[in-house]
Amino acid sequence: MLEFDIVPARRRPAEERAALLADPGFGRVFTDHMITIKFGEDGWHDARLIPFGPLSLSPATAALHYSQELFEGLKAYALPNGEIGLFRPEANARRLNATAERLAMPALPEELFLKAVWTLVEADRDWVPSGEGQSLYIRPFMIATDPFLGVRPSSEYLFAVIASPSGAYFSGGAKPVTVWISQDYSRAAPGGTGHVKAAANYAVSLRAQAQAQDAGCDQTVFLDAVEQRWIEESGSMNLFFVYENSHLVTPPLNGSILPGVTRDSVIRLARHNGWTVEERPYSVDEWRADAESGALRETFACGTGVVITAIGRARSRDGEFTIAGAAEGPVTASIRDTLVGIQRGRLEDPFGWSVRRP
Ligand SMILES: *Cc1c(COP(=O)(O)O)cnc(C)c1O
Repeated sequence: MLEFDIVPARRRPAEERAALLADPGFGRVFTDHMITIKFGEDGWHDARLIPFGPLSLSPATAALHYSQELFEGLKAYALPNGEIGLFRPEANARRLNATAERLAMPALPEELFLKAVWTLVEADRDWVPSGEGQSLYIRPFMIATDPFLGVRPSSEYLFAVIASPSGAYFSGGAKPVTVWISQDYSRAAPGGTGHVKAAANYAVSLRAQAQAQDAGCDQTVFLDAVEQRWIEESGSMNLFFVYENSHLVTPPLNGSILPGVTRDSVIRLARHNGWTVEERPYSVDEWRADAESGALRETFACGTGVVITAIGRARSRDGEFTIAGAAEGPVTASIRDTLVGIQRGRLEDPFGWSVRRP
């Protein structure tokens, strides 16, 4: 296993840190250090913990032209006993490699991924905020670095990890959100990259998200690219539909839906509770009809950033419908409280999801 060279940063003073941690927002404050590891002919090399700062890249860097780049997202939590907990980091390590494979990028050994994340978290542990709803958001990413404009997989890569103390994902707090059902734009198609965390997936979703915002909505819901009929996911969150007796429905991983770690955790938690979870195609017509008849009790979205958020309303060019009076329902609240409790070390963790430094 590679050893990390340590180049210590000038640490910002405690008062400056405290001021930034008071209201960090999401993804705009960064810790003192970052990790970089290079890949070339001889495999992974030059693992470093260095001061957070600009990268120097050739303007011909392949990633800038052809989007051969990927990312991950996970969180570190300040636990009540003073330790730091990561939530299922090995799931992110595995998914990073699934993405790398799809994008013709090299695999990163899972142990190296975990060591990189822990090395950064330990170095910057003073930046793990402990306030309600706060965590340290960790952003691993990999880019193709060949300075070459030919279209082919790069031969050199940079893997890096940065970390950002964060508060709640949506500025509005935990209140139910309104979503826009996108009928003009698709996010992903069969055979494409929707099932992996390719940076380019986000570029193609931004126009739809802008349209959602213009329509007064918080988030976008994407339909399948072929029939424009089946619900896939929100641009960065997976979706669940809750029926009577805690019966949950979620779209199946069909090759254009991102397999969220939170999605998987919700499914396991629900089954652990004795609830039913059906992974099956779910159409926008069924969603609307069941919301209007009242058969549908709740809808929620889930992802690392937001954890769980209720969806109160859905809007599209065809009009709007409301789900159960646009109030957060008990299943959504229960799953959120349990997941957050496990993540923050406040509840028993029968799944072994919250891990400490090895
Ligand atoms: C990351 C992501 C999610 C959520 O995945 P988590 O592992 O739960 O954070 C959902 N959809 C898309 C498109 C994503 O990129």
